[in-house]
Amino acid sequence: MFLKPDYLIAGDITDIDLDLLEQAGIKGLILDLDSTLIAPHSAFISNQALAWLNLARKKFHVAVASNNKNEVYLDKVRELLNIRIVGKAKKPSRKAFHRLMEEFGLKAEQIAVIGDRPLTDIWGGRRAGMKTILVGTLHTMNEPAWKTKMRLLERVFIRPN
Ligand SMILES: [Mg+2]
Repeated sequence: MFLKPDYLIAGDITDIDLDLLEQAGIKGLILDLDSTLIAPHSAFISNQALAWLNLARKKFHVAVASNNKNEVYLDKVRELLNIRIVGKAKKPSRKAFHRLMEEFGLKAEQIAVIGDRPLTDIWGGRRAGMKTILVGTLHTMNEPAWKTKMRLLERVFIRPN
C-alpha cells in the first residue's frame, strides 16, 4: 500500500502557497494540530504559523481535526486561536472530515487536508475524497523519541509524484 499525498511540502505548514490552493479550487482547509500547526502539547503557536493561519482564514474555511483526546489542552488551543477544533478525531477515520465538510458546506474535492502523518492525516483525507498535503513536522521539543521514529518510518509508505 502506498500513500501518495496530492502535495508534498518540503518545509512546514507555513511553506504552503495559499494562492496556489485557491487557484486549484480549494475552498476549505482541515488542519492537523500537533506537529503541524503547533509544537505538540504546547498550546503555543509561532508568529510565523499564526501569520499563515490568519492569511488562510481570509481566503478559506479553516478548522482543525485532531486525534488528541485531551479536552483541557484542546480548549486552551481553541481559546488561543479562536478556531473550530474537532478532537478525538480518530483519523484515519473519515468521521471528523465529513462533519467539518458539512459545516463548511463544501464538497470533498474543495477541501484540502493538511498534516504531518501519512497514516492518519493523509490516509484519512484520501479516504474522505479530499485533497491531501503532507507537511514537514514543526520543531517538537516535547515529542518522545519513539514518536519521532514512528513518524520517520511512516514516510516509507510515501511514493513521490
Ligand atoms: Mg500531527
